[in-house]
Amino acid sequence: MLQQRTLKSLTKAVGVGLHSGQRVELTLRPAAPDTGIVFRRVDLPQPVDIPISAQAVTDTRLASTISSGSAKVHTVEHLMSACAGLGIDNLFVDITAEEVPILDGSASSFVFLLQSAGIELQSAPKRFIRVLMPVEVREGQGASEKWARLIPYNGYKLGFEIDFDHPAVDSTGQRVEFDMGSGSYSRDIARARTFGFTKDVEMMRANGLAMGGGLDNAIVMDDYKVLNTDGLRYNDEFVKHKILDAMGDLHLLGKPLLAAYSAFRSGHALNNKLLRELLSRPDAYEVVTFDDEKSAPRGFATLARAW
Ligand SMILES: [Zn+2]
Repeated sequence: MLQQRTLKSLTKAVGVGLHSGQRVELTLRPAAPDTGIVFRRVDLPQPVDIPISAQAVTDTRLASTISSGSAKVHTVEHLMSACAGLGIDNLFVDITAEEVPILDGSASSFVFLLQSAGIELQSAPKRFIRVLMPVEVREGQGASEKWARLIPYNGYKLGFEIDFDHPAVDSTGQRVEFDMGSGSYSRDIARARTFGFTKDVEMMRANGLAMGGGLDNAIVMDDYKVLNTDGLRYNDEFVKHKILDAMGDLHLLGKPLLAAYSAFRSGHALNNKLLRELLSRPDAYEVVTFDDEKSAPRGFATLARAW
């Protein structure tokens, strides 16, 4: 049986929120089978649980925010991406502020944390959402056109295309495809950092955003070039970060997808709209488990090594 996964032990990290600049402590804890991933705001007078789901996403400006009542957690996508990449099904995420720490701006610190805690196989079948027919969402036209779609695929792969008119981005790959069955998330995707432009950062700061952002947790560009002295981690790091984000946004579905995702200039808002469109069409998907690991799509039985 292809089993659900959680952590073997708890692990902690301290950092700052990208937008709030606030210090925040994160504790990742094992959770029982079929718990899913549950954020817990432990700093509130009464701790509030926020289980992830497509409907829990209440704000997608700049980052994916989930909430329950008035309790919120911003910028969950990089941690969710690491959970998708390592196949974590069940997890408690205790957090002491309303934003996940940005750490190095990629998912690699979360991958390291999760792997250091150890991954435990659980006595319940891993449940996937298998896409049965194409589902697509679109927005805008001409230069502002963007779209995202899911089509049936026996596995999980993502293709993304960006279209930035910027000399530092144009010179890199603007299209990338990543297949969980043949690629390695930790090696190929997790290290891609978030990116921003100095002119936007100035405007965001004036509005109290990006307060924790800087050259140690983002690729920062002026009108012409990358300002980080160490340059890029991958030569197509920008579009790889969009794949990283999409994996995080899609993992908010609560179960891993079996589908091929492709997108053109999509972002957190459109990715969430795609999940809601899928869920509104019960004929377009089914929940499946695999009694025999050998019949599971390539990549899932051998995800991150459990120890
Ligand atoms: Zn991101």
